[in-house]
Amino acid sequence: MPTKVVIIEDETDINEALSHSLKHEGFRVWSEVDGRRGMDLIREKTPDLVLLDLMLPGIDGIELCRLIKSDAVVKGTCIIMVTAKSDESDVLVGLGFGADDYITKPFKTRELIARVKAVLRRGRLREEESRDVIRCGDLLIDVLRYEVTHAGDRIVLTATEFRLLHFLAGNPGRVFSRDQLLNQIIGDNAVVIDRNIDVHVRAIRRKLGAARAHIETIRGVGYRFFSQP
Ligand code: CA
Repeated sequence: MPTKVVIIEDETDINEALSHSLKHEGFRVWSEVDGRRGMDLIREKTPDLVLLDLMLPGIDGIELCRLIKSDAVVKGTCIIMVTAKSDESDVLVGLGFGADDYITKPFKTRELIARVKAVLRRGRLREEESRDVIRCGDLLIDVLRYEVTHAGDRIVLTATEFRLLHFLAGNPGRVFSRDQLLNQIIGDNAVVIDRNIDVHVRAIRRKLGAARAHIETIRGVGYRFFSQP
């Protein structure tokens, strides 16, 4: 899915230049020249990033920044303030409200794109942290989505396999006996058909492919997960 950006800037030439540069980089872009309509647009499009001018008709950039960050749906949106040099004290207020960065007019397209990408990268990391994602090298375990990927490729696990892998990966370096692991994956409601841990571990390893080395067998004891195999 392409990254979505909303530009709110009342100087149409700057607005168009921003829009053009971002579209050229492959972003989906919408723009607005009025603050109030800009907020409606943000709520409608739920963009990943907002480029926000400070001096705007309708609602000004600082107030918009505050509105975005207090909105239940769009508060995770990254914000870069686009400012004139004289707006420095407003920039500090905006950053205080949760804006991620600012760029001063006039700016070079290359600088703008670099800032946009850096802010989006930080935003994604923040989102991953809040989503409870375990990352070990190329292996990613996303608890909320119940999803495991290796180098971007989806690995389809059964619910039991997922619980087992998630538990092991969440406690890297610790050795667990088969009984301990069984207790973990049975949980409150889960129905574990096969109580043989070795069967589940074998299945996980087969599905993990190159990432299988993360799970180490400790002879006579059980298993251990290595963050760095
Ligand atoms: Ca302006």
